[in-house]
Amino acid sequence: MGELGLTAAPFPEADGGAGFSYLGWILVMEELGAADMASAVTLSVHILSQFPVLTWGTAEQKRRWLAPMLAGEALGAFALTEPHAGSDAAQIRTRAERVGTPDAPAGYRLTGTKIWISNAPEADRYLVFASVDPSRGAKGIAAFLVEKGMDGFRFGAHERKMGIRACPAAELVFDGCFVPAANRLGAEGDGYRIALTALAEGRISIAAACVGIGRSALEQAAAYLQQRRGFGGPLADQQGLRFMLAEMARDVAAARSLTREAAAARDRGEPIGEASSLAKWTASDAAMRVATDAVQLFGGSGYSRETGIERLMRDAKGAQIYEGTNQIHRLIVADALLQRTTPG
Ligand SMILES: Cc1cc2nc3c(=O)[nH]c(=O)nc-3n(C[C@H](O)[C@H](O)[C@H](O)COP(=O)(O)OP(=O)(O)OC[C@H]3O[C@@H](n4cnc5c(N)ncnc54)[C@H](O)[C@@H]3O)c2cc1C
Repeated sequence: MGELGLTAAPFPEADGGAGFSYLGWILVMEELGAADMASAVTLSVHILSQFPVLTWGTAEQKRRWLAPMLAGEALGAFALTEPHAGSDAAQIRTRAERVGTPDAPAGYRLTGTKIWISNAPEADRYLVFASVDPSRGAKGIAAFLVEKGMDGFRFGAHERKMGIRACPAAELVFDGCFVPAANRLGAEGDGYRIALTALAEGRISIAAACVGIGRSALEQAAAYLQQRRGFGGPLADQQGLRFMLAEMARDVAAARSLTREAAAARDRGEPIGEASSLAKWTASDAAMRVATDAVQLFGGSGYSRETGIERLMRDAKGAQIYEGTNQIHRLIVADALLQRTTPG
């Protein structure tokens, strides 16, 4: 993907990227999702871990970090989730204790555990969120760029997943890992905002990959029903099955529209919180429904590992959970709706 320039696609040319618009970038993600969701997630998480450097990084941090990441020579990961904090990410317990004076710390000692970190242990660089001041809740969180091989940083258990199995995920264990102050991204209290902003963008890219899963399931099911015969003709002649195909096509088209709308809003510089939640929630639910129907339309062959249709269903399920569960997206959409609605 690095050789193809995909790892640099959505970054501005001024920062060494390929200068794709976000709308252009999500076309890449739809194609990848249609071919292999695990590769799509690997790339999406890689970009998610680096995008914040564009907004929050100093000139020096951009110079040091972006080139190898954009070239695809180093792989990135995004480390927020912990054993006790998933949806309620403000509750993370990983501590970052200042080393040196409070006003000008030389660095931080990180202690804690992250779980479910996609691309680990293969990734070279980890955007890690840790609390400098737990008494301040979300406002006490800071973001750090941690490199593989730093003292006190090791990998724990590898997740054994239902789907996207070609994209690894593992625990990160920090045991007093010293991270220089130069590796802190943004100010000490900026971490939570950095995480939420990055996730809002990343969700559009996951939504696009889900559109790809749905498209692939739909196209394969439509082709199969034309070729598979029964009751005197191709199964595609059965009206009940044609209705299923039509509903699958509707779900994919609706998901694609919302995803492109969110990407276009991002390109126009508009707020994207609500639009990206609507896109990711709709597209991952659509991918799950359409892939499940495709397994049904393939009959016994769909349930077999031989056809690869069941993989689409297993891959789609995860997208209803990561980058904010679809319950959390309902909360985001309802919050936005109520904020712009005047009582009475
Ligand atoms: C394949 C995969 C890859 C992942 N990759 C990463 C990664 O790279 N980096 C990373 O940091 N994390 C990653 N995660 C973790 C993921 O972000 C969390 O699993 C997710 O945020 C949910 O957290 P949880 O698992 O702790 O569930 P919980 O937060 O414990 O939620 C359990 C259930 O309760 C629901 N729920 C929780 N709170 C509410 C509420 N207020 N209202 C209604 N329903 C609620 C949830 O929707 C869910 O159904 C990954 C997860 C998976 C499955």
